[in-house]
Amino acid sequence: MRTETKCIQAGYEPKNGESRMIPIIQSTTFKYDTSEDMGKLFDLEAPGYFYTRLQNPTNDMVAAKIAALEGGSAAMLTSSGQAASFFSVFNIAGAGDHVIASSAIYGGTFNLFNVTMRRMGIDFTFVDPDCSEEELDAAFKENTKAVFGETIANPALTVFDFDKFSAAAHAHGVPLIVDNTFATPVNCRPFEHGADIVIHSTTKYLDGHDATVGGCIVDSGKFDWMAHKDKFPGLTTPDESYHGITYAEKFGNEGAYITKATAQLMRDLGAIQAPMNAYFLNLGIESLAVRMERHCENAQQVAEFLEGHEKVTWVNYPGLPSNKYYERAKKYMPHGTCGVISFGVQGGRSAAEVFMKHLKVAMIATHVADAHTCVLHPASSTHRQLSDEELVAAGVGPDLIRLSVGIEHIYDIVEDIAQALEAI
Ligand SMILES: *Cc1c(COP(=O)(O)O)cnc(C)c1O
Repeated sequence: MRTETKCIQAGYEPKNGESRMIPIIQSTTFKYDTSEDMGKLFDLEAPGYFYTRLQNPTNDMVAAKIAALEGGSAAMLTSSGQAASFFSVFNIAGAGDHVIASSAIYGGTFNLFNVTMRRMGIDFTFVDPDCSEEELDAAFKENTKAVFGETIANPALTVFDFDKFSAAAHAHGVPLIVDNTFATPVNCRPFEHGADIVIHSTTKYLDGHDATVGGCIVDSGKFDWMAHKDKFPGLTTPDESYHGITYAEKFGNEGAYITKATAQLMRDLGAIQAPMNAYFLNLGIESLAVRMERHCENAQQVAEFLEGHEKVTWVNYPGLPSNKYYERAKKYMPHGTCGVISFGVQGGRSAAEVFMKHLKVAMIATHVADAHTCVLHPASSTHRQLSDEELVAAGVGPDLIRLSVGIEHIYDIVEDIAQALEAI
């Protein structure tokens, strides 16, 4: 199946007379005929469900669809993108370990790593995404367990150098984890470029309709845990909290990572997605390929319009030939990147506020990457406590406007932006 078909059909094959849409198994628990039957599930000897805090059939159908889209071997849904980022790292790194992350990552991920996970005893080194191979190599330590990056960084729109980061990760015997939220598997499949694990905030394009918060982790099944036995004892030695199972032996490279994340992390931390939300997510994914095409088409036109406008001082969109990452985006995302643009207006902070006030189609919202065109001025909202100098240091200038181009008619979007720019 091709991507468009997988969006509709992967993950669930109804049998004769069964519902065509995935069923919502809205049940906390599952019934068995004998204790032996249930015992086999607890021992991970047989596949099946016993409690929705760990696994639910509706979730698994949607996870299987995302795994198919990414070309992975196994996947799980989480309650949010944040939970997916946390699990993806915590599944293979604990107190005393070290992780390398690109500094161009989502702010929430940066906080999770730099504050919360540091408190758990995990050390992080943040590297400039455009650092040299030597600088990247020098960031590795004896206890490094993973490298983390973002295909198209939110909000910097930096395009990830997959070749450089995957080569370095693999030379040091650790997996590359990539947040593929902005590109989606329609525009980029990180496993084809050396990534080993992919995570998503499904809250964004995958759901696509502002309906549900969620996350997903997908394993490529290609990382050889046993070849680096000493680095990943959680996968390569018996789990005493799970009847002495050695995940990498019992489930192989294809299943070990997600099975451990389910049996251990989901069991203990319980960040499961509600089956109802998984249903909505699936509904969103059905139109993902069509929506992404339109998002990119619209964003390209908006970016070109902004670039030619006298009141616009700069435009950041990887689809513009003038963009620093244009060539790299073409290499990894030949069919388009995403619908998110950032730009600046003449007159700085106050001009940006006037512009925002006059928009009618584009809605002011702390959100990106869904069907509705929405816009955010960080200097007067999420970053309003910072001075102009501090904003510049944070890479979010006082004039920066983040625009997430939706799938409304392009004329309505452009006309709206044009009249709001006139008001400045
Ligand atoms: C929003 C976002 C997240 C966090 O996801 P939530 O679903 O909000 O928890 C992680 N990564 C990226 C790139 C995001 O845009």
